[in-house]
Amino acid sequence: MPQTENIELHTVGDEVSGSFRCADCDLLVKSPAEADGVLVLPPCPLCACEEWRRVA
Ligand SMILES: [Zn+2]
Repeated sequence: MPQTENIELHTVGDEVSGSFRCADCDLLVKSPAEADGVLVLPPCPLCACEEWRRVA
């Protein structure tokens, strides 16, 4: 199994904080500043992809 890049992938339903981009179309989502800053990852509203990668 090839070790590619060190990318942290998250999937739909994960509770995350920070900024994330759709693994497929690069749509950016951010966790809210309120509500403890927790975002429950949705399916991508543009392409329905279910994987997100963390943006530094
Ligand atoms: Zn997408």
